[in-house]
Amino acid sequence: MAFRRSSILLRRAIGSSRTAAVYSSHSSLLRDSLDYSDCRRWFSSSVSDSKGTAMSAAGYHVSNGPAYMRGAVFWEPNKPLTFEDFEMPRPKANEILIKTKACGVCHSDLHVIKGELPFASPCVIGHEVTGEVVEHGPLTDSKIIERFPVGSQVVGAFIMPCGSCFFCSKGQDDLCESFFAYNRAKGTLYDGETRLFLRGSGKPVYMYSMGGLAEFCVVPAHGLTVLPNSLPYTESAILGCAVFTAYGAMAHAAQVHPGDAIAVIGIGGVGSSCLQIARAFGASEIIAVDVQDEKLQKAKTFGATHAINARKEDTVAKIKEITGGRGVDVAVEALGKAQTFSQCVQSVRDGGKAVMIGLTLSGAKGEVDINHLVRRQIKVIGSYGARARQDLPKLIKLAERGIFNLEAAVSRKCKFEEAGQAYKDLDNGGIVGRAVIEIM
Ligand SMILES: [Zn+2]
Ligand SMILES: [Zn+2]
Repeated sequence: MAFRRSSILLRRAIGSSRTAAVYSSHSSLLRDSLDYSDCRRWFSSSVSDSKGTAMSAAGYHVSNGPAYMRGAVFWEPNKPLTFEDFEMPRPKANEILIKTKACGVCHSDLHVIKGELPFASPCVIGHEVTGEVVEHGPLTDSKIIERFPVGSQVVGAFIMPCGSCFFCSKGQDDLCESFFAYNRAKGTLYDGETRLFLRGSGKPVYMYSMGGLAEFCVVPAHGLTVLPNSLPYTESAILGCAVFTAYGAMAHAAQVHPGDAIAVIGIGGVGSSCLQIARAFGASEIIAVDVQDEKLQKAKTFGATHAINARKEDTVAKIKEITGGRGVDVAVEALGKAQTFSQCVQSVRDGGKAVMIGLTLSGAKGEVDINHLVRRQIKVIGSYGARARQDLPKLIKLAERGIFNLEAAVSRKCKFEEAGQAYKDLDNGGIVGRAVIEIM
């Protein structure tokens, strides 16, 4: 895997400046004549300032832009990510090429890196992105082009609905058949092909969702929502997975009502988002469960009314004590461990809902007391993501009004080059909240 390391190092040394100046004529720039620094300058200057207030008069289209980009590649389990050069990805019909601005560091990627969730490789991980619209695929629906004009800023949901399968047509974007059959099963978009090819060799590289850990990515348009100018690129990236997953769990699976008592087990990026969403929905008791005091301390700023350190206290007994012996209306498991799966089920009141959102080792099983489940009408509900077209716009409103505090949720910002280290830190429990990688 000797991939032009010297040129990559050179590129790393080239800073990306942001300026609002506009090239009056960039159409004369031929893509093949551009070197990388030209590309950087071209994109940072012709597009607009970072919040997309001014577009080039000529619009901007990647066919006049850079021919190559850089992306972080996962090759095989427990091997470091490497940075490689790619041909500029090309969107197809109803897909949008975006200049990636930020990408969140999520446990699902880590499961792939560690080989716990089998995925097509080599691939570009990263599935929680914000970016700027650069190009529409040929034959894209005019309504999509109107909704996402070139230069607009967008946020992407990790479940990118196809918009036309059995589930999408019922409004259940979170169960989109194409997404699971093509993206999760094969690492491709919905024509069965990837959009990522290594520069030079042309070797195909698969995509975990949109393959967000790259300077550009192709996203099916139904997975995107316009991001208002008032929201920052970096912090808003987490809307596409951590906040999205929390919202789906609370709104669709648990259907939380004001006054409900909620317990959240595992206060990472998704768990802490669950606390904020529970608070937004008017939950009265919000119980945070974790093994790190630092995370429990921070949980209070997200709305937790009670904190349980599961290393020091019996989680189920303590939850019962806090709720007058009954248990919570809703318990959420955000860790993906057999032990906490059982605790989650045992923590809910009779008729209560145990919502499972933590992914785990492929094939892992959780235990449930069958008679308790039957007699006490316990509901065990799986929840994965949310519905991009319906829910993502709502999350943006919550964030815009400060009901969901994005700034507080993002605890670390990393440079693109630090992506590998960020996942190591996540694995070691060294990230309290959410880390986001800035790919400006
Ligand atoms: Zn995620
Ligand atoms: Zn679908």
